[in-house]
Amino acid sequence: MVKDNRGRTLTDLRLSLTDRCNLRCTYCMPKEIFGSSHVFLKKSQWLEFSELDELVEAFIKLGVRKVRLTGGEPLLRPGVSSFIQRLKEIHKIDDVALTTNGVRLNKHAKSLKNAGLERITISLDALDPKIAGKMNGLGVSPKSTLAGIEAALDLGFIIKVNMVVEKGVNESQILPMAHYFKDRGVILRFIEFMDVGNHNKWSIERVVSGSEILNKMRSEFDVEPIDLSSSQEVAKRYRYLDGSCEFGLITSVTQTFCGNCTRARISADGKLFTCLFSNNGLDLKTFLRSKEYNKSKLLNFLSKHWLQRDDRYSELRSEIVKPGKKVEMSYIGG
Ligand code: SAM
Ligand code: SF4
Ligand code: SF4
Repeated sequence: MVKDNRGRTLTDLRLSLTDRCNLRCTYCMPKEIFGSSHVFLKKSQWLEFSELDELVEAFIKLGVRKVRLTGGEPLLRPGVSSFIQRLKEIHKIDDVALTTNGVRLNKHAKSLKNAGLERITISLDALDPKIAGKMNGLGVSPKSTLAGIEAALDLGFIIKVNMVVEKGVNESQILPMAHYFKDRGVILRFIEFMDVGNHNKWSIERVVSGSEILNKMRSEFDVEPIDLSSSQEVAKRYRYLDGSCEFGLITSVTQTFCGNCTRARISADGKLFTCLFSNNGLDLKTFLRSKEYNKSKLLNFLSKHWLQRDDRYSELRSEIVKPGKKVEMSYIGG
């Protein structure tokens, strides 16, 4: 098991399957920037699934036990279900998950289930069509995502819903979202709006802190924290005292968790990032396609890179006067 400079292991691998998306969330891919003139990766630039297989095999040897498929929108990548099947059956990864905006989930739910997927995280920021449409940038109603969630629940998937909360935009949706998903036994996770990428005009004034969200939740529900002292989880979890289900807070801005960050992320074109806020990724594709490539050299290459890691952007955020250019969230996934 490989450990970085701060003793952090590598347990969690996030693979972005494409940088394309069918939404333009204001906090991730604002449409003014990601419009018709934006140049996305060409399909020929994507890592082949066989190359992803090589990488997954190496990462498992380094300690990875959990693989999440993300994007862009991962359901826009043809072949996602067959890849999931290989992750489960050939690579024997028990914990495979998918993060999706859910717009196409209704269509894909059955094949994902048949592939062996058990867990899906769906991003949705509001039930109110006006607010959801404003946040997803394209006026898309939450209807299709909600239908996808229902279809996935009917098939027995474990569902979590991620809601990015932005001051003055969708705070009014905290309680309606909580009621809606509590009634369906779905875990809702409130995410603090983060300063990822270079274009979402983030400022601390636009962040609704986890403690503000918790106060709002406490004003409506009886809840208690779940003791996670022995776990590596990044979400702070709470249970409803009526026993119905739980919800979570992801406080990446106000209560950072760099000390527990055991994630590696790979972009669709094969760049390895060890922090969401890095600029440079390590080019794995060129290495995989070079004459010198072999499995043991790849292991060496990856473990050396992880050993040198000292990322802790969130811990340093308040001291950073002028952040450098950062990778885009839609390019490496959340
Ligand atoms: N398109 C898929 C989706 O939206 O679920 C997967 C990729 S998306 C980049 C992954 C996650 O990142 C989503 O849950 C999204 O809400 C979150 N995200 C994107 N930009 C964010 C931001 N500025 N702050 C907090 N979370 C963000
Ligand atoms: Fe697309 Fe997901 Fe980013 Fe929204 S958060 S723009 S759905 S990649
Ligand atoms: Fe991990 Fe970087 Fe986020 Fe810290 S800032 S938790 S190191 S991704």
